[in-house]
Formats: sequence, C-alpha cells, structure tokens
Amino acid sequence: MKTSAMLETESLQEDFEYTPCPVCHANEPEICEEVNAPVSETASAAFHLVRCRRCSLVYLNPRPAERISHRFYEQAYLPFVSAKEHQSGSSLEKLYALLRRWNLRWKRRQIEALRPQKGRLLDVGCGTGEFLHEMVRHGWHGKGVERDRQAVQFAMNRYRLQVYAGGIESLPDVGEAFDVITMWHVLEHLYSPHQALQKVRDLLRPQGILVIAVPNVESIDARFYGKHWVALDVPRHLQHFSLKTLRQLCEMHQLKLIRWQNLTLDSFFNALMSEMKTQRFRWLAPLKWMRAGVVGSAAVAAGFIKTQKNAYRGSTLLTFWKKSVAHSE
Ligand SMILES: [Zn+2]
Repeated sequence: MKTSAMLETESLQEDFEYTPCPVCHANEPEICEEVNAPVSETASAAFHLVRCRRCSLVYLNPRPAERISHRFYEQAYLPFVSAKEHQSGSSLEKLYALLRRWNLRWKRRQIEALRPQKGRLLDVGCGTGEFLHEMVRHGWHGKGVERDRQAVQFAMNRYRLQVYAGGIESLPDVGEAFDVITMWHVLEHLYSPHQALQKVRDLLRPQGILVIAVPNVESIDARFYGKHWVALDVPRHLQHFSLKTLRQLCEMHQLKLIRWQNLTLDSFFNALMSEMKTQRFRWLAPLKWMRAGVVGSAAVAAGFIKTQKNAYRGSTLLTFWKKSVAHSE
C-alpha cells in the first residue's frame, strides 16, 4: 500500500535532477546519508546525501530542479530565514532580537578588524537587509543582492537600502568594484557555486576581501547529530562544505584563504535546533537543552583549534579570502 507521502514523492520525481559534483564535476558519488525532510504541509520524502569520491564534497543528489526550488522556501517555518519583525512579543523573541543585534555588531567588527577604512560593500543574499543596514549605519557604502522579492521590498522600505532583486550571476555589470563582498550562508544554497564565485571575484577590487560563511559538515555538532543535524536543511542546502572542499572550490577561482574562524552563536543554535527537530518525548526537553549546551560548548571550543587546516571542527566556516593573482586586474 502506498502512503500519501510516497505518492507525493513519485509526483515529485520528474522535478528532481542528478548532478555531477558541484565542486570538481566528477561523477563518482557514494551514498553517505539518507535524510527525511518535509516536502509539503502533509508529506515528507527521503533525500540522499552523497560524497564525491574525488574531492570528498558532500552534496544532495538527486536535487530539486532549480525551476521548482522556490517551493521549498515557501514553507511556513524555516530556521535560517532572517526574521522580519522581532520588536514585540515574548521574552524569548526579545532575547533573540538582542542576540541578533550582538551578532550583527560582531560580524561588522570582524570585517573592520581586517579593513578599518570603510569602503564599498556588496552583501550577496542579503535577505531582509539587517547586516547591510548595520554596515551602512557605520559608514559603509553598501549594496545588496537578493532573490526573494518580498525580502528585497522589506530591505528597501524598512532600511532604505539599495538591493538588486535577482541572483548574483545575473547582476548587471555597472563597472563597480567592491572592497568587501560578503556571502553569509549563501554558497550552500546555490545551483552554480562556480558561476557565483567567478562573478564575485570579478566584482572584487584587487586588494578586496571576500567573506564566506557556510555550515561546516565536519563540525562537532554535524558529527554528533548526523542525519538530524539542523544545518543539513534538506533540500535547500545543496552542498555541504568542509574547510578542505571550500578551499578547493575557492582556489579554483584564484582566491586565497587568509583567515578562518567559527561563529559562536551558530554552535549553540545548531545544537539546540537539532535537539528540537524531533518532537517525540517532550518530557525530555530539559535534558535536550542540557545536551545542546554541552555539544554547543564543545563546538565552540573546537572552533579555536586550528592546528590542522583541513580538519577544522567549528560549527561554521567563517572564512576570509583575497585574490591570489592580483595582476589579472
Ligand atoms: Zn568532487
């Protein structure tokens, strides 16, 4: 007997595509995990994460065809979409708003530590514009790029930001170059990471800095939670980077890693959200909170250990890049 979920999965099948490795283009996948995820209000489906035998990238295969990918961004509850209003509400929402303000300021300071003189900044996938707004408020000339038209409208109306509606690949060439380009949790969503990076590199000034943040598939929390790790975010995250695979991708575009670190809040957020993903055994909630605290703390501690470049275990890869070949300008 077929369940409604199975029927729905079958109807979805033609909308899915097999892909070679998004980083090295090899067609040598081995299955590494099967993950169940909701595909609508009522049904869920099994997705396969594979590992490329050549470069070791973990990626979703098959994946939703790009033309239907918007369906998976329309669900009511998405943990990684920036919230639009948190001014009022419960004390938990107030705490969230406070943490978010602290996080935005921290991100700005990381960038200003590398580049104290404020210049032109492009935020790729700027969402509702909170980070861009933080930078503009502190003297940066900022612009954004965002696919979600509702988010673009919000950023423009609420913060008066300049945001181009569309993907980075289709950003029209206006002869403008940037001192800093940021991609906060964007690269894992892209169908053409190579195309995006090439465009970003072209837009970066010779001494400019590119900031890329992605979840780390080799982090302590990813290892601990396995297929329940919240940052797998199937089927919206198409590729899952480690420091090694991210370097491989960026180095193909003559980008040189100059610094990397963890995002502390992500460690606790990932652990807590991974614990809360399963709704069974609600009476265990206090224990889950405690376990999230332990796993989150371990990931924070691991984020400080950088002895082996390719075995980094922090929750997020917050990475800073420069052009390695400046003479091509
Ligand atoms: Zn590969």
